[in-house]
Amino acid sequence: MKKPYTQASARQVYRFKAALRHRAGLWRRIEIQGGQSLADLDAILRKAFHHDPGDHLSGFWKLPKQGTGQRFLEVELGDIDPFGGGAGADRQIAGLGLKPGDELKYVYDFGDWVEHRITLAEIVEPEPKGKYPRIVDQSQPRYRYCQECKDKGRKTRATWVCIDCSNAEQQVVRVCEKCLEAEHEDHHAEEIVY
Ligand SMILES: [Zn+2]
Ligand SMILES: [Zn+2]
Repeated sequence: MKKPYTQASARQVYRFKAALRHRAGLWRRIEIQGGQSLADLDAILRKAFHHDPGDHLSGFWKLPKQGTGQRFLEVELGDIDPFGGGAGADRQIAGLGLKPGDELKYVYDFGDWVEHRITLAEIVEPEPKGKYPRIVDQSQPRYRYCQECKDKGRKTRATWVCIDCSNAEQQVVRVCEKCLEAEHEDHHAEEIVY
């Protein structure tokens, strides 16, 4: 059942902090309006964490606190199909009944199960010309260098981990885009998110 809410609360801005569950130091601050939907929130989260914008399902859960401890109930809000639809897609943010401090669970890709925690920091009034949803802040990145460039005396930011070489060398092999294309053409690699 949809909770009733006013025009004013549809315009209000929900300021969330979203972090990877297993890498809490990697976070993004995201603002979205009450009248926008979970599909909109999903789209900005994919952008913020470099997930594929048009592949894999994702889903949201609400985590109401139980008592004073760290126990949570999990209330399914529905999944999102990036091609359109999904049970949660049309649910509006203002209709979720969230108050500051409340948490959501967000999972991108039910195969890889990339889990995020999304905490509502505050609800504020929109900026007159603000475009929402938007990413307003992010954790301070700790950049790593491409080790192949480093071997040649150059400092280049690594943007990929070569999984095949990491397995073969029993250590994390980080490379830049150029070196990945030149030396790891058929290797399985994963993008590094800073
Ligand atoms: Zn390189
Ligand atoms: Zn490789």
